[in-house]
Amino acid sequence: MSTVEATLKSEPIEQVIHQSETKHSKPKLAVDERLDWGGSIPFFMVHVIGILAIFTGISWAAVGMCVFMYYSRMFAITGAYHRYFSHRTYKTSRFFQFILAFWGASCAQQGPLWWAAHHRHHHKFSDTEQDIHSAKLRGLWWSHVGWILCKRYAPTNEEAVKDLTKYPELRWINKNHGVAPLILASSIFFFGVFLGHAFPGLHTNGLQMLCWGFFTSTTILYHGTFCINSLAHLLGSVRFKTGEESKNSLILSIITMGEGWHNNHHRYPYSERQGIYWWEIDMSHYVLKVFSLFGLVWDIKLHPQEIYAEARTGEKEIAV
Ligand SMILES: [Zn+2]
Ligand SMILES: [Zn+2]
Repeated sequence: MSTVEATLKSEPIEQVIHQSETKHSKPKLAVDERLDWGGSIPFFMVHVIGILAIFTGISWAAVGMCVFMYYSRMFAITGAYHRYFSHRTYKTSRFFQFILAFWGASCAQQGPLWWAAHHRHHHKFSDTEQDIHSAKLRGLWWSHVGWILCKRYAPTNEEAVKDLTKYPELRWINKNHGVAPLILASSIFFFGVFLGHAFPGLHTNGLQMLCWGFFTSTTILYHGTFCINSLAHLLGSVRFKTGEESKNSLILSIITMGEGWHNNHHRYPYSERQGIYWWEIDMSHYVLKVFSLFGLVWDIKLHPQEIYAEARTGEKEIAV
């Protein structure tokens, strides 16, 4: 059993028990689960500045940058934070691992160790009382952003990511997770300044690029990502009997570069690929396949035949 499998299955993690809940009452939030207004200021400011982008004017260059920054960083969340750091579904070099971590941190969704630790916890306790962001038990708002905007889940549970904490560079990025977004935002601003001077016909400038390319795209990226914690456990179809509420959704898969095949993923999280058939569009998988052609990643894990048999019959043939 790999380290990640062991973590998913048996490693003790702090239990979050809401003793004030009864079957029919609305769960009461503990003090440290309430909205942390002070700590949430950066999150809300990204949204406000993203919306203020309408006052900087709009250009095809700015919209193009927004779309590019959305999808290139969605890959960083799905291909790096999720499929690599959380599940270790392929291998890479230490140098490219660092690139993946930095790229992921540029999404302003905390560091790779924080992200992976919380996500492993979700797989271990999906839709039970201990699941940090169960949409079934705690509703849409909580599963989408509520759990992120409180103090309780801010620390990184290093016990859950022992396979990653051994790398000092990953610990550094995790601790200083604001550095990558700052570098990215500054780079986009100066790129906009350059374009404004070198190609005035593009009708863009530094501020416009910064707002659309960083703040608007980061805002949309937040909600695209968070849809997997919320909507992917509420809307869609069910192929596998996984014992929790995960669903498959083509629309969510297009928005999130393949993460919408969430029921497939909960059934077999050890596969890098999340769509199991060719028509289940999984753009993160295609990107990683291209990376593998260049030797950047290797040993990409896929679904075994037993999973395909189970998909056909709806029954488990053997335990996988
Ligand atoms: Zn899930
Ligand atoms: Zn996962």
